[in-house]
Amino acid sequence: MGLCRRSFLQAGIAAALLPSARLVAAPTAANAIVLNDASRLNPTPVAKVAILSGRDEENLLASLRNELREAAKEGRPVAVGGARHSMGGQSLARGGTAVSLETSIVKPDVAANVYRVGAGARWREVLAALDPLQLSPAVMQSNNDFSIGGTLSVNAHGWPVPFGPFGTTVKSFRMLLADGELVTCSRDQNADLFSLAVGGYGLFGVIIDAELAAASNWSLRARPARLPSDEFTKAFIDAANQPLNAMLYGRLSVSRDNFLRDALMVAYRSDGFQPTVAKAGKPSAAYAYLSRNIFRAQTGSETGKKPRWLVETRLTATVSPSVTRNELLNHPVAEFADSNFRRTDILHEYFVPPERLEDFLAGCREIIPRHSQDLLSVTLRYVGGDESSVLAYAAGPRIAAVMLFVQPMTPEANQDMQAMTAKLIDHVLSLGGSFYLPYRLHATRAQVRRAYPRAEEFIAAKRRFDPNLLFRNTLWDRYFG
Ligand SMILES: Cc1cc2nc3c(=O)[nH]c(=O)nc-3n(C[C@H](O)[C@H](O)[C@H](O)COP(=O)(O)OP(=O)(O)OC[C@H]3O[C@@H](n4cnc5c(N)ncnc54)[C@H](O)[C@@H]3O)c2cc1C
Repeated sequence: MGLCRRSFLQAGIAAALLPSARLVAAPTAANAIVLNDASRLNPTPVAKVAILSGRDEENLLASLRNELREAAKEGRPVAVGGARHSMGGQSLARGGTAVSLETSIVKPDVAANVYRVGAGARWREVLAALDPLQLSPAVMQSNNDFSIGGTLSVNAHGWPVPFGPFGTTVKSFRMLLADGELVTCSRDQNADLFSLAVGGYGLFGVIIDAELAAASNWSLRARPARLPSDEFTKAFIDAANQPLNAMLYGRLSVSRDNFLRDALMVAYRSDGFQPTVAKAGKPSAAYAYLSRNIFRAQTGSETGKKPRWLVETRLTATVSPSVTRNELLNHPVAEFADSNFRRTDILHEYFVPPERLEDFLAGCREIIPRHSQDLLSVTLRYVGGDESSVLAYAAGPRIAAVMLFVQPMTPEANQDMQAMTAKLIDHVLSLGGSFYLPYRLHATRAQVRRAYPRAEEFIAAKRRFDPNLLFRNTLWDRYFG
């Protein structure tokens, strides 16, 4: 937060030169290892990077236990990283041991409609394993880059309907605790740890693997509908609860003359058959190129925002009339990522009680234009209620508003973003909603406690299960420590 202009740019350059946000490591002059995350705004020196791989589980567990013991002995924190796509240092601990798991084994059980997967696996690997079996992940994010451990630990959500967050589709998982004990957690076994670690940001232990619900990989057809934003909620909730709809999203116009007033709703409905040929591994390069360039042409340009909306509302939904569930899920972040190191994409996400969506948008129309941030897209998703996780962001059914901003890598832009975020959070809280924690840590402690009323219970449990606070990251330091 207190970074000067030079370190903002250095952080950006270091990250831009490296191949992936998964492990952005750049040696500094002092020879320390500096890691970063998807925001490129969190250069964090760490004492050690431990990448643990291998098919031999005993070896993996022994190495991990050694790392935990060594870190505890030397008094440094441990933070696990998946793809490090969180944006506020949630996967990083200053001066700590940065652990990554390379455990991508996927074991489907077709008869039981479940699969077991290593926590280090990425969704693209899961899709490749499930697709030939006509199975699909029940819930995952909208892109395929993320790790299973990261997805579970932020309790992500996606756009398949009518699901709640990812945790509602987790059958069980195994986790290595701070004292080296390996525990199985489910709704029946170690149920307290299950509720704490789903959405627990790696603060209770290292997730080793998980058993997850699968869905059928139906062939789907898009049904787009354009409507004014004040008619959106009813149509959207009806569509989310229509059993034939498998996937559903909404979009809002972001050009200034029509700011958040025009909506597009796209439901993908099963056309009644499952593909016999595996297709998820073949996304179209031409389509990706076209959609990325149209999307990026909006940056800093009102004239770019109008054609993009036109393309989106008139063309996108008709480009691929029949598509499988897995094809829709199998898209990397790189398809729309920016390559300019002077700016960075920053996501926000607000969970709004459906009946308050129009009030939420009315406030956004006031707040956002008063700041200098460039809003490139607003996607709306349905998220069913989550009764089990302690840090639940959806106490009941919610409409999730995902906002993608482009922020210059300057301290001024960061301050402006922080001020705008604080207002948007106050606004959503006043409507009984909440906000998502894997993004920039611009909320105050008081805002976190209002959005997450069981935060004190979470902290007390953390101190019970991990009394020496071995597992720590920036989220813990800023809000809970
Ligand atoms: C472009 C983009 C699109 C996104 N889209 C969506 C979306 O559609 N839906 C959604 O819900 N979210 C979305 N997100 C947010 C995303 O789900 C989170 O940032 C998530 O953390 C990403 O997974 P990861 O593997 O990168 O996790 P990381 O960022 O590496 O880690 C996240 C947290 O999980 C912990 N963790 C990771 N692995 C383990 C493990 N094995 N054991 C214990 N703890 C672990 C980390 O310590 C950290 O606290 C998006 C983010 C980006 C950048």
